[in-house]
This record gives sequence, C-alpha cells and structure tokens, in this order.
Amino acid sequence: MTNIKSLYKSELEEFITSNGFPRFRAGQILSWLGKGVTSFDEMRNLPKNLIEFLRGSCYISVANIEKKLVSSYDNTVKYLFRFADGEFVETVVMSYHHGYSICLSTQVGCKMGCTFCATGRSGFSRSLTASEILSQIEAAQKDLGVRIGNIVLMGMGEPLDNFDNVVRFLRLVSDENGLNIGMRHITLSTCGIVPRIYDLAKLGLAITLSVSLHAPDDETRSKTMPINRKYPIPELIRACRDYFDATGRRVSFEYAMIDGVNDSDICARKLSELLRGLNCHVNLIPVNPVSGSGFKKSRTPRQQAFINILTKSGITATVRRTLGSDINASCGQLRRSHTQNDKGG
Ligand code: SAH
Ligand code: SF4
Repeated sequence: MTNIKSLYKSELEEFITSNGFPRFRAGQILSWLGKGVTSFDEMRNLPKNLIEFLRGSCYISVANIEKKLVSSYDNTVKYLFRFADGEFVETVVMSYHHGYSICLSTQVGCKMGCTFCATGRSGFSRSLTASEILSQIEAAQKDLGVRIGNIVLMGMGEPLDNFDNVVRFLRLVSDENGLNIGMRHITLSTCGIVPRIYDLAKLGLAITLSVSLHAPDDETRSKTMPINRKYPIPELIRACRDYFDATGRRVSFEYAMIDGVNDSDICARKLSELLRGLNCHVNLIPVNPVSGSGFKKSRTPRQQAFINILTKSGITATVRRTLGSDINASCGQLRRSHTQNDKGG
C-alpha cells in the first residue's frame, strides 16, 4: 500500500496518471488531504472509480488524539497522538500574539540518551514517516479550528537521525499545494549530529537551525549528552559556522540551565568565548525537572547573572518563557507517564 500523504505532488501525479487517471486529480486529492480527511470516501469531487482505486492501493496516515491537555495558564495545548501501529508521540501547540506555533515529534522516543530529557530516558521505538510528522499539524488544526503558522521540530526524537523523512516533510509542508508553511517559519532542533548538519546546509533550505548545546566544554557536555563523545564541541561549532555561511541563517543555541551543573559564572564566560564572532542567538531555558534525572533548574538570580555575562560579551541571549508548565509541556513526559500507566507502573 502506498502512503499517499508522503508523496510530493509530482510523485502523486505520476502515480495516478500511470494508472490511467488525469493529472489534475492530484491537486484535488492534495487539497482534501490538506483538510485532514481520514478516508478517500470524503473526497467528494472525485469519480467513484478513482476513489475505489485509491482505496485499494493507498492509505492515509492519521494522528489520532489519544489525550489532550489544555494549560489553564496560557492555553498551551498538548496532544498525545496515536498512530496506526499503536505508537504514541507528543505534540504541543502554543499561541503567541503573532499566531500559533506547533512543536512536532519526529521519532517515537530517541536514541541519543541525553540524561536531562524525558524522551531520551524512555528509549527508542521507531522513526516517523513524513506523513506522520505532517499529520500532527493537520490533526491539531482540525481539532482547534485554527491555522498554524510556525513549526518547531523540538518534540520527541532527533530530527537529524531521521534525515530523509524530515527533509521530505519540510518540502511537503512548505509546498504551496500542501500546508504552505514557509521554510522561514520552521526551526529544526538538533543535539548535534555533525555530518547531517553539513548535509542540511548543502540543501540550502531557509529553515532556522537550533543546536542543543547545554554546556560550554566537552567535559561537561559529554556527561549529559552522549552524542558529544562522537561529535565534540569544536566540530559542532565548525558545522554551525558552515550552516550560517551556506544559508545566511542565524543559528540558535539552546542552553538548559541545570543547577550546579552548567550554570556557573565560569560556564558563562566559556560560553561567551566559544560563541564569539558567531552570528547566533542563545536561548536559556531553566531545565524542566524530569523524574529520575536528579536535575534541578537554576535559580532566578543565577539565570540573571549568567545572562548578564553573555550580554556583556556581546552575545544575544534570552531566557525562554516556560509555557504550559501545568501540563508538562516539555516533550517526552506525557508519553512516558501514559505508557508507564499502561504497564501498571
Ligand atoms: N532532539 C532534538 C530535538 C528535540 S529535544 C534536540 O535535542 O535538540 C528539544 C529541546 O528540548 C532540546 O533543546 C532539548 O535539549 C530540550 N530539552 C530536553 N529535555 C529538557 C528538559 N528536561 N528541560 C529543558 N529542555 C529540555
Ligand atoms: Fe533525544 Fe533531543 Fe532528548 Fe537528547 S534532548 S534525548 S537528542 S530528544
């Protein structure tokens, strides 16, 4: 069976014309898929024989709402979606004054094993297809009755460990025949799989690259992020420079502030030194305490002292507002508690 939602328009056209149907039907099919229909019978302007053909040869991948939590503080919505094979992922929709933003998952679980991360602590199951990544947006838009304008690939999983499906997703979602969300409205977050950063730079897509740095030196970073042993900081920063040179897009760095681990004045100075001369932005995030990790967020005065050092060195940095803190909005926690409950744990 063909996964119809993962096809580019040109591939869909080829698929239906080679089976004897006219090319223009592809556009009609795409427009139904974009509305989030879940069966071919709903495509009311298609002839019966085409509907029958599609039913017999293709499937529509759907993200089913298993659970939905709405924050009483700020209307952040968190979904637990279930796919056809029973796997779950988390997706968060945030509303800002400039519109809606969605945080998408790219894998069920993650292989990277970062010690502060709920997803990393619960192992890896599989990568998502391009259509499963897309379906999270369609399902959320349909449920909320809104148009989502911004995407961050910061949910469960490591996007660059699912490179081909993620690139296909980026092309599909930005296509004018699809959801038409421009590359400039998309941010991809990575723990730093260096060769894939070069591959991404070569594609020249106008997305923002966000790198999860979380430490200013290899010793500290390798303790919380195992990937650093394979691709240490100097190599990572070189790849970020290359990304900027190739795309002209300013790189962002995520830095989760963990009490007593990476939040000292010395760390702030090392970070300033590391990023000197790089066109970038640093997002400081007080770490979200995950059960079993033993990590606590840095206190507010510590956050302030840290950001002051960066700013004085000419590094642009902001402390990110935490959204949906009453619904565990940082990803990995809801699936973890859901699946643990299922096992009776
Ligand atoms: N795998 C990718 C994208 C998903 S994680 C990556 O690591 O970048 C999205 C972001 O959430 C990353 O910056 C990650 O480091 C951060 N993160 C994970 N667990 C966190 C926690 N407990 N508190 C704060 N940020 C966390
Ligand atoms: Fe994976 Fe990102 Fe979590 Fe690390 S922080 S375990 S790379 S999801």
